[in-house]
Amino acid sequence: MHDFHFLDGELYCERVKVSDIVSLSGTPLFVYSRKTVSDHYRKLDTAFSSISHLICYSLKANSSIAICRILAEMGSGADITSGGELYKARMAGVPSERIVYAGVGKTRGEIEYALDSGILMFNVESVQELHLINETAGRMGERAAAAIRLNPDVEVDTHDYTKTGTSENKFGLAFEDAEKLFLEKSAFPNVDITGIHVHIGSQITSVEPYVESVRKVIGFAEGLRGRGVELKSLNIGGGLGIIYRDEKPSTAEEFAQAIVPLVEPTGLRVIIEPGRFIVGNAGIMVTKVLYTKKSPSRSFVVVDAGMNDLIRPMLYDAYHDIKPVHAAPPGAEDGVVDVVGPICESGDFLAKDRALPRVKSGDLLAVFSVGAYGFSMASNYNSRLRAAEILVDGERFTMVREKETYDDLVRGETGRFTKMCAGGNDFIVIDNRFGNYPDGTVLAARLCRRSHSIGADGLLFLEKGQDAGRLKMRIFNPDGSEAEMCGNGARCIAAFAYCKGIGSRKLNFETLAGLVSAEIIDGEVKLKMSEPAGLKLSLELSVDGRTYPASFINTGVPHTVLVVEDIETADVESLGGKIRNLPVFKPAGTNVDWVEVIDTNRIRLRTYERGVEGETLACGTGAAASAIVCSLLGKTASPVSVETRGGSILTVCFERGEKVTDVYLQGDARFVCEGSFDLSPSS
Ligand code: PLP
Repeated sequence: MHDFHFLDGELYCERVKVSDIVSLSGTPLFVYSRKTVSDHYRKLDTAFSSISHLICYSLKANSSIAICRILAEMGSGADITSGGELYKARMAGVPSERIVYAGVGKTRGEIEYALDSGILMFNVESVQELHLINETAGRMGERAAAAIRLNPDVEVDTHDYTKTGTSENKFGLAFEDAEKLFLEKSAFPNVDITGIHVHIGSQITSVEPYVESVRKVIGFAEGLRGRGVELKSLNIGGGLGIIYRDEKPSTAEEFAQAIVPLVEPTGLRVIIEPGRFIVGNAGIMVTKVLYTKKSPSRSFVVVDAGMNDLIRPMLYDAYHDIKPVHAAPPGAEDGVVDVVGPICESGDFLAKDRALPRVKSGDLLAVFSVGAYGFSMASNYNSRLRAAEILVDGERFTMVREKETYDDLVRGETGRFTKMCAGGNDFIVIDNRFGNYPDGTVLAARLCRRSHSIGADGLLFLEKGQDAGRLKMRIFNPDGSEAEMCGNGARCIAAFAYCKGIGSRKLNFETLAGLVSAEIIDGEVKLKMSEPAGLKLSLELSVDGRTYPASFINTGVPHTVLVVEDIETADVESLGGKIRNLPVFKPAGTNVDWVEVIDTNRIRLRTYERGVEGETLACGTGAAASAIVCSLLGKTASPVSVETRGGSILTVCFERGEKVTDVYLQGDARFVCEGSFDLSPSS
């Protein structure tokens, strides 16, 4: 059943002493057995091996990336119920074509994310949801695949809160409503509706309710077939029960023996979504006794884990076996106690009226069978830190999630930043939609200073735009001045907004240089820039008695472009500063670009940036300015690859008619790290 056992009075997980883990990582602590996870997966997989099937591990039971990765490597897919679970499943390496997405409240943003990721199918729970999926897929130019979740109205013997298949529950659709959807397929031209889904509840210990529900839905599928609707898959959900105390759940083989003969004749691919069955018995929680105390009527053992770590006893009246990690000597006296946590709620208990060997402060207790709906339901209630998670593999163990710190606790309440880089520029990106930072000038000067602070080429604010619902980018230089536009910065803002779920894959946003639009394509960002203006070819710039042929163009910010034989010999710092300050460019000043043409579609670039007052590793508007100027001088043609000093390659495309139009800048925009900064003025 699992790989936690006592040897010479000591609790082991596989071949590791649990107390050894505790001495490194403290308590409370979740410990998982890799072998138990993989054995349970294998049992179910083998039991269904005679038919076409896919196991989609249900992440809600335990979304530890390490555990999901073990299962993904064994061939498992994922059953997800939120954008967050999709994110974690993908991070764990679950291929998108093995991900199914259930849940009654999928948002538009989550649907977009799932379509973008190319998941196997949505398990649709309402008519309105199907309309939204259809509309979203159409808008994105994608095709969605869907199963309709049926509510088979089947009773199960489990806690009321974990029943999901009766007409009292919010889940799925009644058969008559679902039938209409299958027959009205033409109303959903962007969705292939090819499957049926049911999930009747959790911690179900007998096969009978499954048999009843599967019979009902197969009858339904046959009715549809009679009316010309062909299906491909039947998802029978999860819910298989485990032993917490003295339950006698049906085994994987018994389950398969009851289900396979029903589904085999249909020829449908069977999807199973187990969560608890795979991980439930694969985890323990270790907690330390803090105090023992008595009231006139009860004895209490106060431990350092509470309902924020394990809410199942309070929420479901769930029973979890509890044993001392160092077994009590034979014949030791038992007491009947309540094992309670430190939280200010009388519902904060792990066990009530439990016979337990007498324990004292400092003793370690193991709470069994918490691998499912343990950590995944943990919270920060009472501002408590969520526990660490450890994965044991044979005689080795690794910390797969660190214990939270006080810093984690104030995340979102202190100044948060994301460091990003694009095309060789680095930026500090801050979500300022709520106007938390009224003064970007001071903040930029403080945060962009290298060696003293985070350090960056610029500070980007994502703000609310003038038009309702629109976003706006603002960019501040390290000297505190505000620039109109920055091509690489704008590409970072687009990636930031998309990855944070604030904006969609195609996004229009305001800048001081006008409206720009961006699109995320294959991990790169393609930015449509504002129309270039102020073009002057063949300028003669006089500096220190020498004349330099140059051109000027504004691609959102002003750029002066000098085409040279070899950019390596350009005097960027000194000459750049002088050109930037020439009276002819006042009051705005100019950026200065040195360009070397390699061939018709390739140039190399060095840029002196205003505001940085020095050379930077790249400049998006500079790349666009240089590519356009070289083309107007007859030296290049669109598309132009621009090699930046930072080693990145940016692609600039544009149309040349009477004017230069449709300027696009494409390249990478990557997340580097995230963190928080102290908001106190002195720091
Ligand atoms: N599938 C769906 C749609 C669910 O809602 C759940 C749990 O609620 C599961 C699968 C997993 O259930 P269990 O962990 O009991 O196997």
